[in-house]
Amino acid sequence: AERNPGQSEYLQAVTEVMESLWPYIEKHPKYAGQGLLERLTEPERAIIFRVSWVDDHGEVRVNRGFRIQHSSAIGPYKGGLRLHPSVNLSILKFLAFEQTFKNALTTLPMGGAKGGSDFDPKGKSPGEVMRFCQAFVSELVHHVGADTDVPAGDIGVGGREIGFMTGMMKKITNRADCVFTGKGLSFGGSLIRPEATGYGTVYFAEEMLKQSGRSLQGLRISVSGSGNVAQYAVEKAMALGAKVVTVSDSSGTVVDEEGFSPAKLAELMEVKNHQYGRVSDYARRTGTNFHAGARPWDVPVDVVLPCATQNELDANDAATLIKNGAICVAEGANMPCTIEAVKAFEANGVLYAPGKASNAGGVATSGLEMSQNAMRLTWPRDEVDARLHSIMTSIHEACLQHGRRADGSVSYVDGANVAAFVKVADAMLAQGVI
Ligand code: NDP
Repeated sequence: AERNPGQSEYLQAVTEVMESLWPYIEKHPKYAGQGLLERLTEPERAIIFRVSWVDDHGEVRVNRGFRIQHSSAIGPYKGGLRLHPSVNLSILKFLAFEQTFKNALTTLPMGGAKGGSDFDPKGKSPGEVMRFCQAFVSELVHHVGADTDVPAGDIGVGGREIGFMTGMMKKITNRADCVFTGKGLSFGGSLIRPEATGYGTVYFAEEMLKQSGRSLQGLRISVSGSGNVAQYAVEKAMALGAKVVTVSDSSGTVVDEEGFSPAKLAELMEVKNHQYGRVSDYARRTGTNFHAGARPWDVPVDVVLPCATQNELDANDAATLIKNGAICVAEGANMPCTIEAVKAFEANGVLYAPGKASNAGGVATSGLEMSQNAMRLTWPRDEVDARLHSIMTSIHEACLQHGRRADGSVSYVDGANVAAFVKVADAMLAQGVI
């Protein structure tokens, strides 16, 4: 804590991982030496830079840009870029730390990174977003590369922004290297990448339920958020026979007791992805209920998929969900549940998967995009989806292998943390003190 003052999110993420690792390291003392934990909790590099751009009124605006290159132990740095006014060093360090573990779980050779800026895309014109992205890349270019560090999208960075960044990268470098993932299909993108995080989260929830002889068929699900991850979680959950009764954004929650349908999801995508509108606009257009200022957690459901942002579900929310009979929580977002909420789920027999396991499908498919780019090929949709599905199944198996408790139940938290740690730690030990 003294080394990272004021970095509450970073300390929260490290604490959660270390609580899983201590018992394991006590039994496997080779991981206690070589400054391994000290090195693993210090990013290899943290870059902070000025991003200046000109708005539609001719005013100069200045934002702060970041790239945290946390670990390259098992492959090039890899992780998304977030554009949101809340972005700061603590949040990006927590995300880069988590990314290192998540990427290790995917079975693909990718290190961990995260970046972004405190730029707020809300209310900005497309021209302003483009000029910001270009200014951001004019510095980022010095730190990334197809074999060095491969950024992708995150909150506030979707296909449009990745397109602007890819264009500027080519302009500056005069190279067609695919430095970003999440690209458009016509310039090196992969089929299924937009869907991958949401689909993967639902595939993972399905594996968790299978353990207790259940499936998603007929279950009630609450989803939070209404962005990229949330939309495709809704789509896949519906396809597997579940009834999705909520979506949300930072202004409130839509509660739809009839459940989502493909037509309603198409409407949500139109409002969010093309008009850059709010879920309240969606509720008005579809005649569904909108609860201003509310989060989805007091709606009774079987399965909970938090897909918005960090610390959006606390101990009180967890108590309500448990009281209302929830049986499974799979995180689509990164660290949406507070440590206390996680403890409550685990203590009450609710199956709970941390994002580093359940939402790893997005970065895994980014890894598949990198493979296709390296081969200069495009795999068909079914092939990418099948690989995504099999990666999610193997992450689930790794969690079972390392997370089985004495009573036969599973801690997905311990399983994911230990499985990822062993892979990264072994690579670090083999490569010496660097
Ligand atoms: P989007 O920008 O597409 O959507 C973000 C959603 O979360 C919006 O509904 C947004 O509402 C809501 N949200 C964001 N910040 C807040 C906040 N402070 N309070 C309440 N709601 C908020 O992002 P993604 O769907 O890509 O990302 C969602 C989560 O999933 C993040 O935690 C991200 O790190 C994680 N993730 C994303 C991956 C990906 O492939 N995209 C991969 C793995 C994890 P509003 O519009 O009101 O801000």
